[in-house]
Amino acid sequence: MPRTSLGGSKLAKSSHAELALKQRPRGKSQAIFEQAESVLVGGVNSPVRAFRAVGGHPIIVDRAEGARLFDADGNAYLDYVCSWGAMILGHAHPAVASALIDQAHKGTSYGMTTALEVELAQMVVRAIPSMEMVRFVSSGTEATMSAIRLARASTKRDLLLKFEGCYHGHADSFLSQAGSGLATLGISASPGVPQSVAELTITVPYNDSAAVERALAHNPGTVAAVIVEPVAANMGVVLPSATFLRDLRELTRRNGALLIFDEVITGFRLAYGGAQTLYGIHPDLTTLGKIIGGGLPAAAYGGRREIMQMVAPRGPVYQAGTLSGNPMAMRAGIETLRLLQQPRFYEDLHKKADRLVTGIRAALEQSGVKGRVNSVGSLFTLFFSSHTVQEFAGAKSSDTALYAAFFSQMLDRSILIPPSQFEAVFVSAAHTPENIDFTVRSCLESLIELSAESSNP
Ligand code: PMP
Repeated sequence: MPRTSLGGSKLAKSSHAELALKQRPRGKSQAIFEQAESVLVGGVNSPVRAFRAVGGHPIIVDRAEGARLFDADGNAYLDYVCSWGAMILGHAHPAVASALIDQAHKGTSYGMTTALEVELAQMVVRAIPSMEMVRFVSSGTEATMSAIRLARASTKRDLLLKFEGCYHGHADSFLSQAGSGLATLGISASPGVPQSVAELTITVPYNDSAAVERALAHNPGTVAAVIVEPVAANMGVVLPSATFLRDLRELTRRNGALLIFDEVITGFRLAYGGAQTLYGIHPDLTTLGKIIGGGLPAAAYGGRREIMQMVAPRGPVYQAGTLSGNPMAMRAGIETLRLLQQPRFYEDLHKKADRLVTGIRAALEQSGVKGRVNSVGSLFTLFFSSHTVQEFAGAKSSDTALYAAFFSQMLDRSILIPPSQFEAVFVSAAHTPENIDFTVRSCLESLIELSAESSNP
């Protein structure tokens, strides 16, 4: 029988064997995936969805509601991927859904300006004061590649400085030591990126201000921008050190390079005003994605007025998009941001995430499995490691095999965590305290199984 109830005592008390995924119906999902493999590369449209890093069968989603995903066979999963962070309200929020239904009847794309774009841009500018002007695009990758073009034009310099383990989308300039997607596949750079383009990107370790200072000194007057995830979330969650973001602000200012915060994950996630509000550091340019589109394809870049005015048609820096500012995406974004402004939204979300993180830490302790949780707000990663995970090097020192075993233990208990050690866990407003407690119990059971497996090879 398909499992549709999660967090209830019946499921919580069920034995591991009873819950084993292999015993669930999955014939339809399997048939769909077999067809997918013949027409979609690897059966997916984004590599990490293939579950290569954790093994097993990718989930074929039929529908989603609140904190749950339902697969093609009717199995339910508590979802902590949340469309890689986009679904901060949970799935199919009624207010977002009805705005979309209303908009669909009014037309889904005009290719002309709407009041909706103005409204969402005003919301963004009010939320994030360093963004005086905004340009909407359709994906995080588009936002970061456009921001880099603008930074190069504005500084008349070519080099880009990024950090190991930070991901900024799949544009050529960013595919060097770019965190999760590449780390999951065990590669540090992608073929197809011309050497002449790769040479324009300097990569230094995250949280290493001295390395930034050295790189800027070795390349005087040629670095256009330093781009950073203010909280790294694509090598697993790694927090900035106490001084890192402030150092970047000072070093870039002194050097004449722009500072770009890639807040595709952290924007509207860590606080309504993003990581820059949380840490009180104001970049020259910011990129947003995921939450800003409320689950539809929208993203944005923006920053100081005099820089943004260099973008076409006001200025010469060309950037355009057929579906940019798409009315469906704008409606979903406006509704989502409106709900995020409700009193206590972030306090409640963070309290829930804290309860989960505290529970997982206690479960690690109780099970004796060595691991560590890096967390901020509703974002966290459980790293497994036989030695202390370095503050900035989760990707280097984590035990990915243990993570894969943990992933499948959790999936057996109907809980979907990211199918890669290097992706963040996202908690949404739709996760209930009962869901959280069920997850903590499942985590403890899973860790106990892992510790039993490792002592009985
Ligand atoms: N920047 C960051 C920090 C991201 O996490 C991502 C995607 N995970 C991107 C950029 C690229 O966004 P998209 O997948 O929408 O192109």
